[in-house]
Amino acid sequence: MDDATTTMAAPVHLMPPPEPPKPHEGCDMCRALVRERTEAARAGDWSKVADANVEIGRHLAGQQK
Ligand SMILES: [Zn+2]
Repeated sequence: MDDATTTMAAPVHLMPPPEPPKPHEGCDMCRALVRERTEAARAGDWSKVADANVEIGRHLAGQQK
């Protein structure tokens, strides 16, 4: 009898967050963070991308315009 129950692990997809925070328009700080995020994404450094998103979100929360 073939009793092999193969439990396959679910495939892991490493993706950037679906909705990254939107930077302020014309804000140097946001622009720098977005640029950092873009470069990190290009390098495939998703943890750095997530960090940049957190930074942008925090910055947006800090100064509501
Ligand atoms: Zn800003």
